[in-house]
Amino acid sequence: MSTNASEFERAAKVLVGGVNSAVRAFRAVGGTPRFIARAEGAYMWDVEGRRYIDYLGSWGPMIAGHSHPQVVEAVTRAARDGLSFGAPNLRESELAERLCAMFPQVERVRFTSSGTEATMSALRLARGFTKRDRIVKFEGCYHGTADSLLVKAGSGALAFGSPTSAGVPADVVRHTLVAQFNDLASVQALFAQYGDEIACVIVEPMPGNMNLILPAPGFLAGLRELCSRHGALLIFDEVMSGFRVALGGAQEKVGVVPDLSTFGKVIGGGMPVGALAGPARIMESMAPLGPVYQAGTLSGNPIAMAAGLATLDLIGAPGFFDRLGARCGRLIDGLNAAAREAGLAFCAQHVGGLAGMYALATPPNSFTQVQGQDVERFKRFYHLMLDAGIYLPPSPVEAFFFSSAHSEADVDATLDAARAALRAVA
Ligand SMILES: *Cc1c(COP(=O)(O)O)cnc(C)c1O
Repeated sequence: MSTNASEFERAAKVLVGGVNSAVRAFRAVGGTPRFIARAEGAYMWDVEGRRYIDYLGSWGPMIAGHSHPQVVEAVTRAARDGLSFGAPNLRESELAERLCAMFPQVERVRFTSSGTEATMSALRLARGFTKRDRIVKFEGCYHGTADSLLVKAGSGALAFGSPTSAGVPADVVRHTLVAQFNDLASVQALFAQYGDEIACVIVEPMPGNMNLILPAPGFLAGLRELCSRHGALLIFDEVMSGFRVALGGAQEKVGVVPDLSTFGKVIGGGMPVGALAGPARIMESMAPLGPVYQAGTLSGNPIAMAAGLATLDLIGAPGFFDRLGARCGRLIDGLNAAAREAGLAFCAQHVGGLAGMYALATPPNSFTQVQGQDVERFKRFYHLMLDAGIYLPPSPVEAFFFSSAHSEADVDATLDAARAALRAVA
């Protein structure tokens, strides 16, 4: 019989570490990854037939739940018309028209096949448009796996980052300056020194990759002001927050308008899609109109566009985010109450369908605070929840994802499991 353990052993013989994306190997929590056979609505089933209430949601895309009939129908219909053309198709224009209508500053869109490609292309565009080389990123923000973004703060007073991955030459990240999220002074200092050399600041406006952190009041507006003053572009990487914290993403929530936005995850409804979007005067620096090269064999793939369109139809329905936020809010309130009852330094928060839980007394405001979690306690909590049939992202530094398929009964079942798990680890 096929078990998670036997399948992991099998996979490890042919896939590096048994996986195709590092975090799936469960290294941060230990134990055996679950091999998923099937998913529907709020649930996933592993190869042993065990059902989980899923708060991973494929790391964000599945905001309408797994295998939503409308999305599956749209994908099936598109598939009958052909899987890929490598030539323009109408669904690309339709999805781009939606984005232009949703975001006031967005006049042109370029689709890619992943979030990584979108951010990588956004950096190239910002550099080509401004004719400057330096970029600013924040420690703890994740923008995919492009070389120049795999950087952490350098030691001491050094503004230049050092690579976080082997295989990234120090020379490649020489132009990447690293600042601290929610610390405007750290950005001001970089602009004071390198102002006229900085092409762009790239930021997750509501970071979901150092668990969920909310921007301090005035922080994003401060970035906007610094970028405008120094002629640098502000890039909001909304691959995770877009269409998840609100229909209009974090930029709608905070009322700060970036120059360029990157999207992914929800916009593909579970198919591989990324997007880069902004005003025509910037976007038209890109090929075929401008000198900044960008291309992709499967970009704007008709099946992926169909999944994105069907998902936007679902989440654009009146009241969708009110209902999603209210139900997710009940889960968060219940988790906080359970932690208080257990007398545990543990808490949770959410914005729309993006949520975080922390082995901390209060929600963190910085990367340093996220790193200060009681990791051993989180691991024990994690496995108690998994054993109880609750699938959370397998790491204390990841956010978790709520969908419209999660029912009140799912929330109750999750809270029952959490109360027992928190008591057990207290
Ligand atoms: C997931 C993510 C990416 C990378 O997207 P991929 O599709 O995995 O390449 C980039 N930025 C943010 C904010 C993300 O959450």
